[in-house]
Amino acid sequence: MLRESSAPLLIQEIRGLGYEVPAALLLDGKSVYATGDFDGSIRLTRQIADGLWDGGFRDFAGDDPHSSPYLQSWFAADFEMVQWFQSKGVRPGSTKHSLSGLHFYGDRHGSPGWIFGNDANEIPCNSELVAQLKQDKDLYHDLCSCLCSAGGCTPISKMVRSFMDPGRDCKTLGQNLAAWVKHAAISPEELHDCLCEALRAVFFQIFFDETDHTCCDIGYYGDIWIGSSTVQSEPEPSLADSDVSHREVNFRDSLEKGIQRLNICKCPISGKILCVIYWKGICRSDGSPSIEGDS
Ligand SMILES: [Zn+2]
Ligand SMILES: [Zn+2]
Ligand SMILES: [Zn+2]
Repeated sequence: MLRESSAPLLIQEIRGLGYEVPAALLLDGKSVYATGDFDGSIRLTRQIADGLWDGGFRDFAGDDPHSSPYLQSWFAADFEMVQWFQSKGVRPGSTKHSLSGLHFYGDRHGSPGWIFGNDANEIPCNSELVAQLKQDKDLYHDLCSCLCSAGGCTPISKMVRSFMDPGRDCKTLGQNLAAWVKHAAISPEELHDCLCEALRAVFFQIFFDETDHTCCDIGYYGDIWIGSSTVQSEPEPSLADSDVSHREVNFRDSLEKGIQRLNICKCPISGKILCVIYWKGICRSDGSPSIEGDS
């Protein structure tokens, strides 16, 4: 089995011939299959992967603790590569830090990027591969513990977090959510739970700061960061704690009310979250609730 770490000979050879080693050939300890790239401009293709595989590179993991090429393919919604990795023996439900392909696919739905025209509807879908992961209920929640999700991060909590980057509101989140419902074939029975998950994650973003997350975060390159946002300087117990608990009370209270409203909201999926958050005492069934004048 070839590993990237065996490549120094090649580097020596190039330098020995008096050439500069191109940056792309410098060793970084990652698998040669690792091509995490949000914009997809240096995407791994089947042809390249076949070439690497035939050349003896069989190590998908590399030494990178933060990412996996297989999960990066999910992040890129590149189902041809997802299938390629599976054909080479990668288990469909493979995880990294307990995050499955579905979490990465969900995260992408929050932030499609220009490669998909910034439109979640344009994200490719493969119902068979998605259904395969959905079947394994144990994969749905990861092992994180954070108020933004109940029982661990879900594809939807990841979607909301990537959608609501600091400073961004939830005005058009409903469209991303509707695309997810379509692409992940969310059944009418599953829909309510999905919306509650989204609502919870949205309220978290509203009541707390980015640094209050105690869960993992999926980065720009499909890389995973565990608890990086939870590192805080010296705590100031009394003030900080009372502030947090005050916010937590408001958060839980709003969530409870939101779920009650969700139960009576008749808006289409794309309008429900806004309708419930900016509730006017009556459901706006046209699905495009105005938020003018709301506070
Ligand atoms: Zn969180
Ligand atoms: Zn997590
Ligand atoms: Zn409504």
